[in-house]
Amino acid sequence: MVKMENPIIKYIELENIGSGTFGDVCKALDTATGGEVAIKKINLQGLVRKEGTFNELMVMKINKHRNIVNYLKSYLVDRQLWLIMEYMDGGTLSDVINETHVSEGEIATISRECLQGLDFLHLNDVIHQDVKSSNILLKTDGSVKLADFGLFTQLTPEQGRRSSVARTSGWLAPEVVTGQPYGPKVDIWSLGIVGIEMVEREVPYWNATPVLPQLLIAIQGTPKLQQPNLFSPCLRDFLSCCLQTDEEQRWSAKDLLQHPFVRFAEPVSSLVPLIVSVKKRKETRM
Ligand code: ATP
Repeated sequence: MVKMENPIIKYIELENIGSGTFGDVCKALDTATGGEVAIKKINLQGLVRKEGTFNELMVMKINKHRNIVNYLKSYLVDRQLWLIMEYMDGGTLSDVINETHVSEGEIATISRECLQGLDFLHLNDVIHQDVKSSNILLKTDGSVKLADFGLFTQLTPEQGRRSSVARTSGWLAPEVVTGQPYGPKVDIWSLGIVGIEMVEREVPYWNATPVLPQLLIAIQGTPKLQQPNLFSPCLRDFLSCCLQTDEEQRWSAKDLLQHPFVRFAEPVSSLVPLIVSVKKRKETRM
């Protein structure tokens, strides 16, 4: 699965794109194809939970879908694992939210693309567990893909549900916050929070320090829009179907794909002006 040959002559590194918990991500040129790739370099030395890294590798390799960032190859270089992925030239949804207003139509298209990725994962008994705007990557052709597979969980048929909390954040579903067993619908809650991020440009309770956002989620349940009247009943209903505190009442990815808010959404090409304009704004500041 992991190639031992040295990839340094195969890729020309162009620029550093970002850093995550486990290492850096850079943009590079594949000398064989002339195409651009992203290389995530994970420092294995000192990493206590190496299985998270190999989990990411396995899940990306097995689960290929047009709404999931495509894994290409992996190499072991000294004490680093290099994951070669398709390069997403439009940055993250988080960049878009920070830079500009996202229209209801664009929110519908982005939500549908994420739901297609989640529906595919859930059908394959995989829970993403870390859906948030910085893990949704974009391309200037309008593609929207889920990334960051370090926390993905593969459920076995006997397992069905999980109970350990992997990470704390404002995107966590109430059943995770309160330590209950949970299933794939945690990703739907998180997607609902991404919906609120797109609408209000902020994660609910984000500035609620010193009270942790997750504590407020546990106490107050479904976050409310600050100015609900600014948005259509259809968008509000969609968010409410994602953000049901009772997991049983929360819709699945498959059901949500039939919700009128996303069912009649525009094709991804409608996102091109938004993604390109945000990319240009970021480039002119560099
Ligand atoms: P953490 O690992 O702590 O959750 P993260 O998700 O930001 O943080 P990485 O997955 O290592 O960490 O990604 C770091 C940054 O690199 C991302 O924010 C994104 O901007 C960029 N990035 C990651 N993968 C790609 C890709 N395939 N194409 C383009 N940019 C990418």
